[in-house]
Amino acid sequence: MPRIKPLTGSRLLLARLRDIMASNDVTQQARLDKIVSIIANDFVAEVCSIYVLRAGEVLELFAATGLAPEAIHSTRLAIGEGLIGRIASKSRPLALSDAQGHPYFSYRPETGEEIFQSLVGVPILRGGRVTGVLAVQNQTSRSYTEEEIEILETTAMVIAELIASDELLGKDELRATDGSTLMPITLDGIRLNGGLAIGKAIFHERAIPMIKLVSDDPAKEQQRLDKAVIEMHGAIDQMIDDSEISDGGDHKDILKAYRMFAEDVGWLSRITEAIDNGLTAEAAVEKVRNDTRARFRKQTNRYLRERMHDFDDLAHRLLQHLVGKIDNNIHNNLNNDTILLARNMGPAELLDYDRKYIKGLVLEGGSSTTHLAIVARALDIPVVGKLEDALDKIEPLETIIIDGDNGQIHIRPSQITLQSFTNALKSKNEQLAIFASLRDIPAITEDNIMISLNINAGLLTDIDNLLETGADGIGLFRTEIPFMDNNQFPNVDRQTDLYRQIIQHSEGKEIIFRTLDIGGDKNLPYWNTYKEENPSMGWRAIRISLDKPVILRHQLRALVRATEGQNLNVMFPMITEITEFYAAKNILQLEIDRAEAKGRKPLKNLKVGVMLEVPALAYQMTALLEHSDFISVGSNDLFQFLFASDRSNPRIADRYGPLSMTGINFLTHIVKQCKLSDTPLSICGEIAGRPLDAMALIGIGFRNLSMQASSIGPVKAMTRSLSVNKLEQYLMSLQDHPSHNVREKLREFAIDHNVIF
Ligand code: PEP
Ligand code: MG
Repeated sequence: MPRIKPLTGSRLLLARLRDIMASNDVTQQARLDKIVSIIANDFVAEVCSIYVLRAGEVLELFAATGLAPEAIHSTRLAIGEGLIGRIASKSRPLALSDAQGHPYFSYRPETGEEIFQSLVGVPILRGGRVTGVLAVQNQTSRSYTEEEIEILETTAMVIAELIASDELLGKDELRATDGSTLMPITLDGIRLNGGLAIGKAIFHERAIPMIKLVSDDPAKEQQRLDKAVIEMHGAIDQMIDDSEISDGGDHKDILKAYRMFAEDVGWLSRITEAIDNGLTAEAAVEKVRNDTRARFRKQTNRYLRERMHDFDDLAHRLLQHLVGKIDNNIHNNLNNDTILLARNMGPAELLDYDRKYIKGLVLEGGSSTTHLAIVARALDIPVVGKLEDALDKIEPLETIIIDGDNGQIHIRPSQITLQSFTNALKSKNEQLAIFASLRDIPAITEDNIMISLNINAGLLTDIDNLLETGADGIGLFRTEIPFMDNNQFPNVDRQTDLYRQIIQHSEGKEIIFRTLDIGGDKNLPYWNTYKEENPSMGWRAIRISLDKPVILRHQLRALVRATEGQNLNVMFPMITEITEFYAAKNILQLEIDRAEAKGRKPLKNLKVGVMLEVPALAYQMTALLEHSDFISVGSNDLFQFLFASDRSNPRIADRYGPLSMTGINFLTHIVKQCKLSDTPLSICGEIAGRPLDAMALIGIGFRNLSMQASSIGPVKAMTRSLSVNKLEQYLMSLQDHPSHNVREKLREFAIDHNVIF
């Protein structure tokens, strides 16, 4: 027969609290009053008091037994004030046999507490935040045991739920105390994708509801926990196994470290302890999660804060295994003005959402998610990242404005802010409608110069953009994006299939496939290279492709197969020395020969080009022009190397740049060389998509621009309002301009000549 444990200590106390919580027709205040008297009784203490955190960061005495009744709802302490305030400010329990001798003791005559010698208090925590303090006092000097403190902490968890119901404080005040404020907040992050969005906050990772806090049967709860832990371990092992297909490295190490955390004896035994004290398994996990959050929240050490996120994530996973199949499918609960909030997110997770619902994305992380930004760009979703702790400041369904261009978000915006952003969005949409009407009109300047406008792409969905914008073709297909959106290297068949679909759906428009440009900030989750000091100048792009030719061969094989009988345009990224281009071309030739030997239909036409992204290549133009069918300037990288200015560092992002005479002269040199040898030239960095910059590019002779799809309309409008002749003359007059940046001068030109930008 199973042994029935007698109800002892906290379990007995919790069982009583559960009855109080379950009783009907009782106000929350009456419940608090009962709770303090039960706890005092249990602790054989003269005083038990509950302080609740109110708006304005004050702790108000809400219920007490043993203190003067007049003090209730009148005694208030600031956070940090007195022993109670100190417990709240430190988020830690405090037990003192001589409370009055403590330097933080603050005497409140209205309470009559001068006669009490000893005190033990614990923070009331919810979501890792202090929402009150629970304290017990004894008249005589006594010490409190660890077990008693644990009992109080467990009890505090139940009280936290009571405070969180909006009867005691009211919804608005509750909000004001939960770490956010009701005030509008503007947070500065970094732009991961520009654009404007207004919508309602939806969390990517939904909170798991706590239905039952107190249990009758710790043994059963322990069994549930053990089962969930085993399941969770199994799931993590599976993740590790899935990563076996990669060549090991950091990714697997991270998962293994994660597995180690999941086995952390301290973490698991604290959960078991909370179960022993009478909580359900899920409440116990939540309690330990709260404690860990409270402990780590004030940590400034990044490593430790990251560990907190690990434990937080583990707790979430464990809760999911405990609760079983919960309706975590937020995809069913989206409004069509959803602003998605996430700590971090992979590109595949973003692609899982139905694009039509997602207006914008807010991320606490950022730098490691640049590949997500590229996907977001393809989907035209504004994203702001690097917003530390932003999620704690936002409630579900609150209004959020994303100002992607300026890397800002506005939480609960004031009426005036909301109105001005609504107006801005409206005029943006009106503009979009105008741009859409230009879809089938050519991008031809006032003086009849035809400009080819193309899109940058990386996903199959981009083909819709190609057709919707009326762009001439795809000037840059970033083949690494499908690689990033995978959990293993796509094999030749999968790649062939994808490239074939892209070609088939593009209605004969020209596509330039760029071979794999991984490394730098674009890592494949399943193929991590070793850490580098300067990854963007490190082992990336063609350097990897030539060192691991099998990757390049497979990719080129897939491209040749997918294109049989059609035109194929291939370009190689990050060529620094012309010999790298020769080597890459040789590999391509091997694949063409192989296809022929296999009896595949020959390509109709093949063009092989180079991305000019490294300044050194500009000094090898003669050889380059002789061997290259076309050149595409990758200005994002080119300018970061030309100006020694990290393209992903927001502090220096606008410091130098293309609209300096240095940038303009450098590009002019390339344009002239290409013209002389009649080599087709295009430019596919971000600048090609900014109307004013694009105007300058046309002014110095570029006739082929490739950009994100949403820029096609604005750049076309600019082109059609521009006289190249006048601009060329104007640019000549700027040659000796003293300022390094001529952006302002170009703006003046555009305004004076009615150029739409
Ligand atoms: C560039 O460097 O300008 C470019 C288009 O390539 P990516 O942004 O993918 O590095
Ligand atoms: Mg580049």
